[in-house]
Amino acid sequence: MHPFSYERARDIDHAIRLAAAPGTRFIGGGTNLLDLYKSGIERPVLLVDVNHLPLADIVELPDGGLRIGALATNTAAAGHPLVRQRYPLLTAALLSGASTQLRNMATVGGNLLQRTRCYYFTDPTFTHCNKRTPGSGCAAMDGYNRIHAILGASDACIAVHPSDMAVALCALDATIRVQGPQGERSIGISDFHRLPGDTPHIDTTLAEGELILSVDLPPSPFGTRAHYLKLRDRASFAFALVSVAAALDLQDGTVRDVRIALGGVAHKPWRADDAEALLRGQPLSAQVLQQAAALAVAGARPYRHNGFKVALAQRAVVRALQLAGGKA
Ligand code: SF4
Repeated sequence: MHPFSYERARDIDHAIRLAAAPGTRFIGGGTNLLDLYKSGIERPVLLVDVNHLPLADIVELPDGGLRIGALATNTAAAGHPLVRQRYPLLTAALLSGASTQLRNMATVGGNLLQRTRCYYFTDPTFTHCNKRTPGSGCAAMDGYNRIHAILGASDACIAVHPSDMAVALCALDATIRVQGPQGERSIGISDFHRLPGDTPHIDTTLAEGELILSVDLPPSPFGTRAHYLKLRDRASFAFALVSVAAALDLQDGTVRDVRIALGGVAHKPWRADDAEALLRGQPLSAQVLQQAAALAVAGARPYRHNGFKVALAQRAVVRALQLAGGKA
């Protein structure tokens, strides 16, 4: 057992000061961190308990958007009346993830920071994993890679990001408000998670010692015209093989605005900008939907066992848009 120290943060500044020490991890719900600690993958020197900080509130912003505190549990966020009413896409994504027990513990901030479930990363008996041990290689590249990425991967890592919530946040153009030694800043969700490149051990653009304060959502024109479609190996408690968060703003059957984000296909939630651009100003016809779906996976590079994801992702995009638009 790897020994570590524990400190309970008195306030946000105290938490950030404590995090200046090398090897520090913030702990909220701990649902992923504890698993990784028990398997020896995470080896914190100091755990800073942030659970008593005032970061669990969900409040309306002056512009009509919503601020979800980083310590709001996944259950609280999914069930909040304003989230259910204005961002049902987020509620659906949250409820599709994990189990009730885990959602009761897991926080919104922690959800963003959960790490890949690549088998070769989570099982320390595999020695070749650039994400766990930089420079050691990637066992998944020539191994069993059915769950791995088809978009944006690199020769160093083909892992996917596991969060459902982050996929919905990507479609909703959320920003992540953080505070660190240099002060406070906001990071667009599309810039928060990284593609692996040559440094797959770095999952996010958070700087050293930065603490997530909240997830901020802009006012949404999409309302209930949204759908989160998650395709997985079993009906519950499984990570997405492919997921799609789709939201539509329709006027007289024509797409005025649209958002499409995919999960289970890349090292970060994958925003389908080109597919969105094609759909704007178009009717939701079968032909247009097929064209948009093809654009959503443009440049896909499947590996030995996950070629099925290319077709699955296209069908999921079509289906999610149909369901969002009430056409299914
Ligand atoms: Fe490690 Fe990434 Fe390769 Fe999985 S895909 S073994 S996480 S380097």
